[in-house]
Amino acid sequence: MTRKTVLGEVREVQLAIELIGLGARLQFLEAEVGLSRERLIRLYKEIKGVSPPKGLLPFSTDWYMTWLANIHSSMFYNIYQFMKIHSDEEKVWILIKSYKLYLQQIAAQDSEPILDFTRAYTMVRFFDSDMLQLSTCSRCAGQFVAHAHDHKSGYVCVLCRPPSRAGKARGAKRGAVAGIAGDGMVFGVEPALEGGLH
Ligand SMILES: [Zn+2]
Repeated sequence: MTRKTVLGEVREVQLAIELIGLGARLQFLEAEVGLSRERLIRLYKEIKGVSPPKGLLPFSTDWYMTWLANIHSSMFYNIYQFMKIHSDEEKVWILIKSYKLYLQQIAAQDSEPILDFTRAYTMVRFFDSDMLQLSTCSRCAGQFVAHAHDHKSGYVCVLCRPPSRAGKARGAKRGAVAGIAGDGMVFGVEPALEGGLH
């Protein structure tokens, strides 16, 4: 049994505040934060002004494969991977910081976030349990979220082969290509990392 300390509890409350601010669901809070359900609900109400929504986390891996969702998911997961390699923080804080960088990146492109925090978290769990993988596009060399165990050779990403109705989102494509393609460096995140991780 772990001994509770005042500082430990402060950290848990800080974590809960961050997560609630990003829109985490109650199930996620209960799994990641060492506070009682009652206290989490109280915190949630204080921060959001409403009770946490009820219901299960509904997602399947298919959501991440649709065109725009795949671009955003791939962008987020590239950031997350980069952060995982370059940070020795707890996983949940890596997730929080990666998600904030994703929001910054989206805002910088004048776009709306498609991937909400719960979906981002669920996706990381899908990767951990080997249901999703990153596949390298054979045309642009970007790394994209794909079903695990899909054939990797000859894979073409959603940006290089967009559906015809996706034409109006060309602006998003340009920004995303800069972020996902290339040699592992994601977006312009390096300055933000320096400030955020030490
Ligand atoms: Zn491609």
